[in-house]
Amino acid sequence: LFAGRTEFVKGVVAMSGLPAADRMEVCFAGRSNVGKSTLINALTGHKALARTSNTPGRTQEINYFTLQDSHYLVDLPGYGFAKAPVAVVAQWQRLLKAYLSGRPTLRRAFVLIDGRHGIKAVDEEILSLLDTAAVPFQVVLTKADKVKAADREKILDQVRARLQPHPAAFPELVVTSSETGAGIETLRAIVAGLD
Ligand code: GDP
Repeated sequence: LFAGRTEFVKGVVAMSGLPAADRMEVCFAGRSNVGKSTLINALTGHKALARTSNTPGRTQEINYFTLQDSHYLVDLPGYGFAKAPVAVVAQWQRLLKAYLSGRPTLRRAFVLIDGRHGIKAVDEEILSLLDTAAVPFQVVLTKADKVKAADREKILDQVRARLQPHPAAFPELVVTSSETGAGIETLRAIVAGLD
């Protein structure tokens, strides 16, 4: 699935802009700076497919990419900018809610969580939205190369505990590093195995 060329399809700012729901899709969400662009680039083998370091407050787009002709990979805008204008946040929340509850071909959401910090308050909103929309989601821990060996189990335990109240959460966590490539093949296999 990840062997072919991944192409950018479009950036979407309203539900009316979504491409036809004619194939399955997976989406990636996470706090800004969590390593989402880097992870998408690592997964797809591109150097700069997903733009790194998105500018806070600029128009928030849902970016669509193709995986072969059979899947869409959907990059949701990063959340948690301290300085994002209120109107931008409100517009984004409306679109996100509409997208998550109105996309029948969405098979799974991957929620990226910084492997050094675990789940924070800023992440809870998207987890609740996913529960409400009944979109199965899986947590992907990023930047594993930066996590001290002594902290690893503690953080995994924290994440598992925080996921407990979320009915849409998969219990299996995926630990990744775009730096070392750890977990990237596992994540590809999970996406390729969805039906
Ligand atoms: P985004 O805002 O979520 O798209 O985050 P980026 O992909 O732009 O990454 C934010 C910063 O984290 C950048 O400086 C990346 O180089 C760095 N980064 C991303 N993934 C990793 C990783 O796996 N390991 C390390 N050490 N740094 C990473």
